[in-house]
Amino acid sequence: MASSLSRQIWVDGQKAKDSNMNNQADLEALFAEHGYSDFKWIKPEDIVVSQWVRMKCTFGCGNYGSNASCPPNVPSVSECRQFFNEYRTAAIFHFEKKVDQPEDRHSWSRGVNEELLKLERAVFFKGYAKAFLLFMDSCYLCDDCPGLRKKCKNPRSARPSPESMAVDVFSTVRPYGYPLQVLSEYSQTMNRYAFLLIE
Ligand code: SF4
Repeated sequence: MASSLSRQIWVDGQKAKDSNMNNQADLEALFAEHGYSDFKWIKPEDIVVSQWVRMKCTFGCGNYGSNASCPPNVPSVSECRQFFNEYRTAAIFHFEKKVDQPEDRHSWSRGVNEELLKLERAVFFKGYAKAFLLFMDSCYLCDDCPGLRKKCKNPRSARPSPESMAVDVFSTVRPYGYPLQVLSEYSQTMNRYAFLLIE
């Protein structure tokens, strides 16, 4: 026979589970209101953070140092891991796009990220004070980025991308059945992912 202590623990656990499910249902309704249906819930502890991602930003990216929301204007890799560990709920949002010209992707990602900011704000006002968005691409909110965090022209809206936060997006999204391949040409379909850290 279960002790009163273990019964209490089970009851508390069940309440927490029910409350989580209610929270998720409310959030899913909010996502739908904002037009998002292609998303999956993820435990932040399952977000894969890797040093190699930071190395790829630091060596090999032609834009290194030119975006105020990308390395080196972001936390260290271990601080990124710590940041994700402070959350227990997050959602991945999937976006797919083919562009005619390589430069078209910036205006597309700007539009998508501006809409995502509205969702982050709505989630925040639902009482989720920790809500924090990772853009689905580097921050292209401004035509001209000064490349320095303290000189950011839109600091209230700027957010890092998952890659800037050292997220191995390939390893993180694949277990959820999401597609992601290395692309050899700009004309190929892009699959992009934004992360919304919630609570
Ligand atoms: S908001 Fe503008 S200035 Fe700030 S990081 Fe984004 S593009 Fe750069």
